[in-house]
Amino acid sequence: MARIVMKFGGTSVADLDRIRNVARHVKREVDAGNEVAVVVSAMSGKTNELVGWAQQMPKVSGGNLPFYDAREYDAIVASGEQVSAGLLAIALQSMGVDARSWQGWQIPIKTDNAHGAARIVDIDATTLIERIARGQVAVVTGFQGIGPDNRIATLGRGGSDTSAVAVAAAVKADRCDIYTDVDGVYTTDPRIEPKARRLSKISFEEMLEMASLGAKVLQVRSVELAMVHKVRTFVRSSFDDPDAPGMGDPDNPPGTLICDEDEIVEQQVVTGIAYAKDEAQISLRRVADRPGVAAGIFGPLAEAGINVDMIVQNISEDGSRTDMTFTVPSGDVVKALAVLEENREELGFDVIQHETGMVKVSVIGIGMRSHAGVAATAFNALSERGINIRAITTSEIKISILIDGAYAELAVRALHSVYGLDKQ
Ligand code: ADP
Ligand code: ASP
Ligand code: MG
Repeated sequence: MARIVMKFGGTSVADLDRIRNVARHVKREVDAGNEVAVVVSAMSGKTNELVGWAQQMPKVSGGNLPFYDAREYDAIVASGEQVSAGLLAIALQSMGVDARSWQGWQIPIKTDNAHGAARIVDIDATTLIERIARGQVAVVTGFQGIGPDNRIATLGRGGSDTSAVAVAAAVKADRCDIYTDVDGVYTTDPRIEPKARRLSKISFEEMLEMASLGAKVLQVRSVELAMVHKVRTFVRSSFDDPDAPGMGDPDNPPGTLICDEDEIVEQQVVTGIAYAKDEAQISLRRVADRPGVAAGIFGPLAEAGINVDMIVQNISEDGSRTDMTFTVPSGDVVKALAVLEENREELGFDVIQHETGMVKVSVIGIGMRSHAGVAATAFNALSERGINIRAITTSEIKISILIDGAYAELAVRALHSVYGLDKQ
């Protein structure tokens, strides 16, 4: 007997047939004598629709929020998961499985006050544990909890992964299975590179980089939580036949295990390639080259909630003026330009230039720590295909390269092949 948290994403609960199929996965684990809590996303496309509606509403006058009152945004977008949780509970009941749906606030899953991008601060799992221990399946709405203001708060897009890992940590689950529309974590997005290979294991650190650099198979925060709380997390497919041989294997379920680095016997130099679309590049030309300039630029951007990513500063020729280039999500570019214009006098730059539609491709691998030449290989591969590099950042285990959006797929495939990731 094990205690398992099973999470099903949007495509896995996209319609009533898929929800019935999910119920069969859950029933398999229940029939095997396991204690089960389930976390569900909204039906695929639902959250986008809800976000779209919220964005079409007028900005609340006097509010300091960009488009709408974020508390009401949360009230709207959290509703998708409420529907799928109820439907799955009914599907399970109709198969003779005792099940009950739970909304985040009912458990409660407590979050901070950052509506729209809240973090889970605490889960009181007493009732949940009591119910699952007596054999009732708890179907929990992902993506949401309750803030200190006593209102629903959502965890940011893709947040159901985080709900699942947090629930798994809170109920001290033996395993957290993230069911999705691919059968594991691949060397790169299999939708872009059909030659991508499924990894049987990936380290927490690498998964963290993959997720933060654009591989949306897991939300970044879910990987952080799994790492901190040592939650044994598998990524696997809900599209597999629920009753196929091996599906209920308690130790080695089919899929990818996210684990500690030392559990991986054969470590490759490069593990995967990730990409993030919709980056914008902003360049400030002829900025004063003196102490405090970077703080002067990036302080106000941070205060405006703009996430600055790659930063490149040139060394000035004469010690007086320099160029500063950085990236922000394309959706934030208008706001970023406005903030910079407001501070133009103080910063003393000549011109602002910006370009949207950039893509950041990243090469990730723990093996880079001990291998030289990984970056040079990437630069060569891109140059051979005539792809111009606009900015580069590196860390111990990753290289990120900013390129023109039109070359995204070509670059991902080139990098995937140059490190031999498409070879068995
Ligand atoms: P869910 O709705 O189940 O949460 P998501 O769409 O959020 O599913 O995440 C699954 C998707 O992540 C896959 O369909 C795949 O296209 C994408 N993806 C990106 N990078 C990877 C990767 N390295 N491995 C597997 N899937 C990836
Ligand atoms: N339904 C939410 C979203 O689409 C949360 C999730 O699917 O993880 O972002
Ligand atoms: Mg997801």
